[in-house]
Amino acid sequence: MISLRKQNFFIGSVVVLLFAALCWFSFDFMRSVQRSLWDNSVKNIMESTARGASVLQRGYVKDIEMLRMLANELEQEPSTNVERIRRKLKTFLSNTGSLSALIFEDGTGYVDSGLAVTLSPEELATVRELHDDSGLLFPYRNRGNGRRTFTIYAAVEFSNGPKAYLFKGYSVETLYSDYALSFYNNTGFSYVVAPNGDIAMRSVHPASNKTFANLFDIIGENGNNFNIVESFRKSLKRGKTGMAVFNDKDGENVFCYVPMPRMGGWYVVSIVPNEEIMREAYSITRKTLFICFLVFAGFLVAFLIYLRLNRSYEKEIRALAYRDRLTGVRNLTKFRIDGNALLEDAETPRYAVLSLDILNFKIFNDVMGHEEGDALLKAFAGMLKSETSHPALIARVVADTFLVLFPYEERDELPAYCEALLQAINAFVLSRGRNYRIELRCGICCVEDSDAAPDINTLLDRANIALKAIKTKGAPLWNFYDHTMRDRLLREKELEMRMEKALVQGEFLVYVQPKYWVQSRELAGGEVLVRWKSADQGFLSPGEFIPLFEKNRFIVKLDQFMFSSVCALLRRWLDAGVRPCPLSVNISRVQFYTPDFVETYIGIKDTYGIPDGLLELEFTESIFFENVELLNAAVRKLKRAGISCSIDDFGTGYSSLNVLKDLPVDVLKLDGMFFRTLKEDERAKIVIRNIMRMAGELNMATVAEGVETQEQVAFLENTGCDIIQGYVFARPMPVAEFAELLGPSEETR
Ligand code: C2E
Ligand code: CA
Ligand code: CA
Repeated sequence: MISLRKQNFFIGSVVVLLFAALCWFSFDFMRSVQRSLWDNSVKNIMESTARGASVLQRGYVKDIEMLRMLANELEQEPSTNVERIRRKLKTFLSNTGSLSALIFEDGTGYVDSGLAVTLSPEELATVRELHDDSGLLFPYRNRGNGRRTFTIYAAVEFSNGPKAYLFKGYSVETLYSDYALSFYNNTGFSYVVAPNGDIAMRSVHPASNKTFANLFDIIGENGNNFNIVESFRKSLKRGKTGMAVFNDKDGENVFCYVPMPRMGGWYVVSIVPNEEIMREAYSITRKTLFICFLVFAGFLVAFLIYLRLNRSYEKEIRALAYRDRLTGVRNLTKFRIDGNALLEDAETPRYAVLSLDILNFKIFNDVMGHEEGDALLKAFAGMLKSETSHPALIARVVADTFLVLFPYEERDELPAYCEALLQAINAFVLSRGRNYRIELRCGICCVEDSDAAPDINTLLDRANIALKAIKTKGAPLWNFYDHTMRDRLLREKELEMRMEKALVQGEFLVYVQPKYWVQSRELAGGEVLVRWKSADQGFLSPGEFIPLFEKNRFIVKLDQFMFSSVCALLRRWLDAGVRPCPLSVNISRVQFYTPDFVETYIGIKDTYGIPDGLLELEFTESIFFENVELLNAAVRKLKRAGISCSIDDFGTGYSSLNVLKDLPVDVLKLDGMFFRTLKEDERAKIVIRNIMRMAGELNMATVAEGVETQEQVAFLENTGCDIIQGYVFARPMPVAEFAELLGPSEETR
């Protein structure tokens, strides 16, 4: 899960980085696109301006040349030949459609129609300032027609001395409408300016008719950098071509200036609002941005889809990791996580963990089929929830074991819950038409019974201990955990850790309890019983460790050790010439079911060369009813090998007298519990008497075990019982003590 989250984080970061890179790239791209578009546009403006300038200049040069030609022509005549001069003027100039005149230095002259004129004093002053051979005049308002007029001139030196000027004037409006440049839908215009910035001609378009008279009037204000303005001023004076950007009150304008060196250094200057130049760039930028946005949106959508898929995948994984597939309730891991969270949050927690086991589920499964078994488990998971009004946490551990974390108010609720579950599950089985009784077992551990801090693992372990405890008891439906259970488990663990070493170090001792003939009171034999003499804990009773060794199978080793020890003992006695008595050794169920058990025991007997009739094996009653055939075969083999067999603890389990007739055993041992209640129980006496009689008829010897009183002895004397083993005569004793009970050795006798 963590790795999944990490992965998402990683992918998220990559997307963010990609986005950042995309933004950076688009920004950079846009800027370079804008720049190059702008460069390109400005270059175009420059080119148009240059073209305009060259056309204008060419027209001017042509007109000047024409004027010069006329001047040459006039210079052929003396100034006094007025008639010829007038005619020549008329021929050359009158059909050009412009205003022309020949003016002498004294201010008199003729216009193209041949009429004589006299200049005003101001006009004369202007004429007198002319020095060049030919040139142009800054436009002025013509006195005659009131129009702004652009004038070119050429000097005429008459052969007879006087100097005059030929003038040709054009209406600025008409002239410039031929040459005017306009850009971007008339948002940009060109002007013709003198090198000092004075506007000579401007476009006729209304939008261009700004009132300024000199270029620097607009440039000078509006916060333009002084140095740049000055360098522009110098460029104009020096006849340079170039471009500059200046602000006016409406925004930025691009100035493209191209000089006309042959036209008095005048300039064509195109002024175009930067905004207009950028308009196209902006539109491309917008498109680019839009595409970028689309790409990013695509990315985002893809990422979101990925996240969504991932989330559902994560959910699935979570479900796999935390849910029980069959029933849909939590699994153990999730139970632990959620349980702990609940316990931590609870202020005064009255929580119990219930560990539930469907006892005979395996058989149910085998008999009814797996589908029915699954249905039962699912239904049971549902009942765990529905049989309480509390918000219980439910989990399935494996197969038929479930856990419930149960918040309760009264302790009584817990057993009641178990009872309700038992009823519900059996009602369910019945409802499916099955005639089968389900058994439940439930171990309960309440937080208040647990000395440790309430953590889920402890509660869970202890609920399991409580469950195990009833299972061995086999009895009730539910069981509360208490500390004796835990202590016992700890004790068992401790014993388990020491047992192997104890066997090697000889801590297991052979004790023998004598058996006596009822009639003669002579020693009939002995039962071998194990004692654990622990180095640091003294004697441990078999009641404490035998059940444990049966559980962990160490009993197999121990039983064989005891049997070998007994064989060794008999061998010692025989070798020492002591006349031994028969000894019986206990065989646990576990031992009985180990492969080659019979062969192993016979082998040991043979190894020590023990004569027949001295060894007896005691099998507990329960084995007889589990597997009569196997036992029959074992008993027959053992008997053939000279080892007698007895049924131990007869009457404690599910004894069936019926079975006895089929078994070739030699001895029937009646459990001491038969005799405890003899005094009050006449019926018990009848049963015992009949068992003794029947055993006799089946050729079995009878041993009464656990006989403690003389009264019991007296009773047994009259029942036909053969042998008595009990505290009334002797307790189990060490071998040395028992040896003293045996008769003297044959030699000494
Ligand atoms: P068990 O085979 O029924 O052994 C007889 C038990 O009754 C012995 O208990 C014995 O001390 C006790 N007993 C004898 N007379 C009296 C009496 O008058 N009154 C009372 N109250 N008890 C009497 P012990 O020695 O504590 O052994 C308990 C059980 O442990 C044995 O029951 C047997 O099942 C098992 N056991 C002992 N030694 C071995 C062994 O070497 N191997 C196996 N597999 N089991 C053993
Ligand atoms: Ca026994
Ligand atoms: Ca017994």
